[in-house]
Amino acid sequence: MGLFSNRKTVFVDSDILVVGGGMAGCGATYESRYWGRDLKVVCVEKANIERSGAVAQGLYAINCYMGMQWDENQPEDHVRYARNDLMGLVREDLGYDIARHVDSSVHQFEEWGLPIMKDPETGRYLREGKWQIMIHGESYKPIVAEAARKAASEVYNRIMVTHLLMDEAKPNRVAGAVGFNVRTGDFYVFRAKAVIVCAGGASHIYKPRAVGEGMGRTWYAPWSSASAYALPILVGAKMTQRENRITLTRFKDGYGPVGAYFLHLKTYTENAYGEEYESKWYDHTKELVGDYIDRQPVPTCLRNHAFLEETKAGRGPIRMVTKEAFQDPHKEQVGWENFLGMTIGQAIVWASQNIDPKHVNPELTTSEPYVMGSHATCSGAWASGPSDYAPSDYQWGYNRMMTVDGLFGAGDTIGGTAHKFSSGSYTEGRIAAKAAVNYVNDMENDKFQVSEKQYQDLKKTIFQPLENYQVGRNEIVAGTVSPSYILPLSGLQRLEKIMDEYCGGISANYITNEPMLTRGLELLDMLKEDLEHLAAEDLHQLQRAWELQHRVLASESVTHHTMFRTETRWPGYYYRADHPKLDDTDWHCFTLSQYDQESGEWTMEKAPVYHIVD
Ligand SMILES: Cc1cc2nc3c(=O)[nH]c(=O)nc-3n(C[C@H](O)[C@H](O)[C@H](O)COP(=O)(O)OP(=O)(O)OC[C@H]3O[C@@H](n4cnc5c(N)ncnc54)[C@H](O)[C@@H]3O)c2cc1C
Repeated sequence: MGLFSNRKTVFVDSDILVVGGGMAGCGATYESRYWGRDLKVVCVEKANIERSGAVAQGLYAINCYMGMQWDENQPEDHVRYARNDLMGLVREDLGYDIARHVDSSVHQFEEWGLPIMKDPETGRYLREGKWQIMIHGESYKPIVAEAARKAASEVYNRIMVTHLLMDEAKPNRVAGAVGFNVRTGDFYVFRAKAVIVCAGGASHIYKPRAVGEGMGRTWYAPWSSASAYALPILVGAKMTQRENRITLTRFKDGYGPVGAYFLHLKTYTENAYGEEYESKWYDHTKELVGDYIDRQPVPTCLRNHAFLEETKAGRGPIRMVTKEAFQDPHKEQVGWENFLGMTIGQAIVWASQNIDPKHVNPELTTSEPYVMGSHATCSGAWASGPSDYAPSDYQWGYNRMMTVDGLFGAGDTIGGTAHKFSSGSYTEGRIAAKAAVNYVNDMENDKFQVSEKQYQDLKKTIFQPLENYQVGRNEIVAGTVSPSYILPLSGLQRLEKIMDEYCGGISANYITNEPMLTRGLELLDMLKEDLEHLAAEDLHQLQRAWELQHRVLASESVTHHTMFRTETRWPGYYYRADHPKLDDTDWHCFTLSQYDQESGEWTMEKAPVYHIVD
């Protein structure tokens, strides 16, 4: 028994456990109750579901809405769109499944009180773009959370889930999760028949552009700490497309999104000399990726590529031309409101740097890479598809079940399905929940089996950083550096540096190659050795310690996948300098990995891509 593991243990048994109460988690909680009236549904969240996850600040647009009631788009159109943007590689079965259900989720949001802007001429939802509708979304998350709160048997806020529990009676079956309350320090054992992981994406894997006084400012939520990936990876669930990290063009220093500016305000970009630059890079890009450059809309990564090449040619900074649009008072108002309802930091940065977009064209930059499965990239867990639509290679059980029995996922967690965004993540949570209810019902009286040893061992491991601190601090005479421990912030900065320099971050201009990745993996191994000596001075730091553990494991998976895919499929997201071209002959496929906790080894394989939609 460790010095700090003698803490109160709270047991919570349920039928369905939802880990993470963001958009997907709220959808999963709501729908579990809908189909499982008599089931015990528990949602556990490390913050408070009222304002947690990537939508915590609110949003200005719902980015995934078909508009089938007005025949604006059909699900097949969305599959084509996502496939094009991801240069051919998406799980069409999963994407179609979300697209056919997403409108009903949006209608629920409106019924619950979310103000959706209307086109005064047509009475339809006001479109920002082909897939986006505009909302007054500051309270988007509280509205969605209220539905989940009312649906759940219990919601446990402020509990960081650190590990999943496995059933000891049945191999490869999940049996719950453990974690600790970040306020009281109580240890929680959640035993459940089915677990739905909805713990968001990953920021702070790579060194951010905003360091020093700006540290913590990122585009994706800084609290998205890769638990969605580390939890399933640790128990051997297969992952897919982890190399498909995202880099975004954003307003400089505040990471303000550009979507509303391009789509609604019709602003455009130019180089430092006022020139259009994307067309200059057409021939060069065609050499690398072939016909993908001729597709409409041009894949996001290729637009990034032109931006990066123009900057490397010395004609930066690239600016967004706002001066024209902002002369229209309505557009000026929309331009500011867009940030005030979603990314307040960008409005503050502009105010503090004397940038009034009506008079100055603001600078853009490309962000550090993030790892996620709900935005414009496909990184996540490999999941079974819908029984009425998925090819047999993609079906091994229940919809959205990973390769571990009883373990489901949604939103950023699930790979292969880019462009689901907030509404699609919520919808995927609903889809996963319906399948999880079926799984639980099919289990009938079959109960999970978790030995005391399993959770007591985890309890000791979880609280070990508190002990490391209490013992190690006695060796310090001044300052904070101890000869025997490493603090979470130091570990985080070391991780970000490794990923940045060796796995295609901003300092390396997103470039990497096999020798660099090999060295990156060696350094990650050394970091992992040191993580055994992580120290936490309080519960807050203990949370940081476990977030770091999750980020490191997720980073390792990204690096292995990047090494495995010997081509550059998405220039503008990252470059394999030793394989600079897209290679559809060998790499028109998904990459899959599996981690073995015992040996620490990763196994890589390819999986076929099926084009179901013509
Ligand atoms: C700046 C920004 C702008 C965006 N703009 C738009 C937009 O305009 N329109 C749109 O539709 N979408 C937008 N998105 C995308 C949208 O927010 C995401 O697609 C969506 O939130 C993903 O849902 P999720 O449930 O997977 O993750 P999240 O909503 O992030 O939820 C994850 C949850 O898991 C919790 N969690 C994490 N780890 C643990 C753990 N170990 N234990 C317990 N709980 C944990 C988190 O606290 C969080 O509540 C934007 C995102 C960002 C960051």
